[in-house]
Amino acid sequence: MARQRTGESGGTSILALGIILGAAFLIVILGAVGRAYVAHAELQQAADVAARTMVVAGGDDPRSRAIALARENGARRVEIEPDGSELHVRVWASAPRVLGVRAGTQIMAESWIDQPPPALAGDGGPNPPGQYAGPLVYVDGGVPICPRVGAAYRVMQADARRDGVTISATSGFRTYAEQAILYAQLGPAIAAPPGVSRHHDATEFDLKVGPAGSSVHRWLTAHGPAHGFVQRYSWEPWHWGFVAGC
Ligand SMILES: [Zn+2]
Repeated sequence: MARQRTGESGGTSILALGIILGAAFLIVILGAVGRAYVAHAELQQAADVAARTMVVAGGDDPRSRAIALARENGARRVEIEPDGSELHVRVWASAPRVLGVRAGTQIMAESWIDQPPPALAGDGGPNPPGQYAGPLVYVDGGVPICPRVGAAYRVMQADARRDGVTISATSGFRTYAEQAILYAQLGPAIAAPPGVSRHHDATEFDLKVGPAGSSVHRWLTAHGPAHGFVQRYSWEPWHWGFVAGC
């Protein structure tokens, strides 16, 4: 009898153990599925944040900011590349651990966002926002400007010389730091605050033109646009910018 009872209770124990193990297995599976789901949702957020940052961040280097933000949101690897008119962001992270064991697989999330049209970037000019960071050439004995604008300027200058008009530049590309000094010296009525001046684009010259309507100013107004240069501001006869950018 005792043995029978033992047998019976043993059978019950095995059944109970089976139910407990089955439930535990289900909990582990559901937990793993849940963690994978949450991990992917978080990674998706990292991709979305990076894509949005690429478009709205502005500043010198939106790509670095986007990658840093994606990493802060859990991404291990980030790739951002143009895809037609859109930007395509892909981020990867390690799959969550199951029972403390790394699955060894990577999960990936992606996000697309429309690239901003170039005309909206920066302060209305064709250059991206921020300080120009490319190569510089020097015209008129030391005025820095980007190579493409420098080449167009020299052609325009030679053209003016043939008409007996002398054009020379007093200022070209300026760093934020140089603009900050000018702003402090000249004040807001004459100089733009650092970060706002078009001189950061390396497409802009201040030229020796004299007052509006001078012979040099008249020549520039007549011939500057054919060389790609326009007077940017009606109240600054000396400030001429290259429309096509660097
Ligand atoms: Zn200027």
